[in-house]
Amino acid sequence: MPASTHTVTNQPPPLVGYDIFAADPALTEAVDRHVSPEHSEAVRAELSELGLGAGSAEAQEWGRQANEVPPVLRTHDRYGNRIDEVDFHPAWHRLMDRAVGAGLTDAWSRPDGQLRRTAGFFVWSQVEAGHGCPVSMTHAAVPALRREPEVAAEWEPLLASHVYEPGLERPARAKAGAIAGMGMTEKQGGSDVRANTTVAVPLTGEGARSGEYTLRGHKWFCSAPMSDVFLVLAQVTGEGGADGGEEGLTCFLVPRVLPDGSRNTFRIQRLKDKLGNRSNASSEVEFDGTTWARRVGEVGRGVATIIEMVAATRLDCVTGSASLMRQAVAQASHHAAHRSAFGGLLADKPLMQNVLADLALESEAATVLTMRLASAFDAAHGGGENAEQERQLLRLALPAAKYWVTKRATPLAGEALECLGGNGYVEESGMPRLLRESPLNSIWEGSGNVQALDLLRALQRSPEALNAFLVETGHARGADHRLDAAMKDLLTELSDLEGIEARARRLVERMAQVLQGSLLVRYAPAAVADAFCASRLGGDWGAAFGTLPHTLDLAAIADRARPEVP
Ligand SMILES: Cc1cc2nc3c(=O)[nH]c(=O)nc-3n(C[C@H](O)[C@H](O)[C@H](O)COP(=O)(O)OP(=O)(O)OC[C@H]3O[C@@H](n4cnc5c(N)ncnc54)[C@H](O)[C@@H]3O)c2cc1C
Repeated sequence: MPASTHTVTNQPPPLVGYDIFAADPALTEAVDRHVSPEHSEAVRAELSELGLGAGSAEAQEWGRQANEVPPVLRTHDRYGNRIDEVDFHPAWHRLMDRAVGAGLTDAWSRPDGQLRRTAGFFVWSQVEAGHGCPVSMTHAAVPALRREPEVAAEWEPLLASHVYEPGLERPARAKAGAIAGMGMTEKQGGSDVRANTTVAVPLTGEGARSGEYTLRGHKWFCSAPMSDVFLVLAQVTGEGGADGGEEGLTCFLVPRVLPDGSRNTFRIQRLKDKLGNRSNASSEVEFDGTTWARRVGEVGRGVATIIEMVAATRLDCVTGSASLMRQAVAQASHHAAHRSAFGGLLADKPLMQNVLADLALESEAATVLTMRLASAFDAAHGGGENAEQERQLLRLALPAAKYWVTKRATPLAGEALECLGGNGYVEESGMPRLLRESPLNSIWEGSGNVQALDLLRALQRSPEALNAFLVETGHARGADHRLDAAMKDLLTELSDLEGIEARARRLVERMAQVLQGSLLVRYAPAAVADAFCASRLGGDWGAAFGTLPHTLDLAAIADRARPEVP
């Protein structure tokens, strides 16, 4: 409709109606590279279906609604009974339904399961990041539950189900699918979970079975509290009545609804008022001493048990940030391709090309690293001949990527937002939501310093891990002199242990960049690999994005990242 005062011109069309997967060459090439040939066609078809859904106007609208109408806590029903429920906008349930239906919680028993799920999570998270939290925890709970085969036999089929069935009206075993959460962080300690004070006491008396406990204490952060089941850390103490004489921090399974259909005690005190991630409910919860729990793994081995879950959610933090960066770059390059200023398209202006190319490089480097980690997860859990090598590689590559890829999301989101000018600062563009979301993946599942320290620990404890890293990056040796020099400098850094803890961030950052550089040199188009090595490894770069050497093929790099909309 023409306005009565002017005609609207030079505003880009919305970026909808396209296949988010197919329009991303860095992702499609990575999937082709890592997937087994016999599954390639099926996986591509599956991801394209999800990509078309993610790129639809309808799904984008669900993302907007789920964030504009955040969840609401209802502690009591109208009669004053405690219910501890959270109401979500219907759009949240649609997002969850589509994610679960697409198999994003089903990776552990399917061939190439991690690869196809990671690519799917990458694609679908571009619609909306908040619901990625329960999707991720549901997927990640499985390897921890497998420590207790009887528990896994009951819960794994529900968590891996492709049916989303929300609500606490029935026990999970009567449902077609279940969602999982986790409770580790307490007020007095999050990174250092050994400080947990929640206490677990074994159930005794008639009918009590081995491994059953009650919990008393609290969790300061507990996201997605409407999930069916939680993995929770609590202390077994000698005083409370030890299980077989053992004590210490232990992992427990806490269902919200007990097998007889009654509610387990799970008091939701408050929902957090958060910077971003607003569609997702993150709560404070209390267990009052009657909360029923089932032990998972051995007493005193809580961290070792839940770390299986945490490794998988850390990969999802990397994937989530890479996905967020991809969406930000897609929006920025789409805008620049349709907006003119000073007599020409922004996308054709040399300085804008430099910005877009620099953002695209960061995004592509994050994508190839994410997918390489996913293939390592498949190999490490697959038990093939390279399983141990890949497991060792992950020991360094996962904390390095969790540290670096998640750290890059915020500066990238801020710069991509600026490519849209004033429109980027306005909520309707979706860019503010990306920016607000961007710091989170660096905080939860082990913040930046914790990742850096974890990597140092791995270096000190297992020389095989460093060896696996050197074998992996060594595949690219000789292909680019700046990469070779960076590898050499890295070895010098690693050989000097003086002040290593205070130097850990520099070291981890460099390891992540060398790994990214080695992957790009092996697999990316020459223009992309050349620009990455010149800037990130060779140091020919400024402090802000848009400072690549002007002699590079900036147009080719920027064009590659622009999504084609039919
Ligand atoms: C939106 C949101 C949702 C969340 N959902 C959940 C959930 O569902 N379940 C759950 O269990 N937790 C959840 N968390 C909690 C999250 O995992 C923790 O906040 C995080 O692990 C950090 O713990 P902390 O907040 O206690 O910070 P601290 O442990 O106090 O750390 C503060 C800072 O100190 C740094 N630091 C810690 N130790 C060292 C050291 N030795 N040397 C140098 N620096 C160090 C950390 O890197 C961090 O930057 C959520 C958090 C957020 C923001």
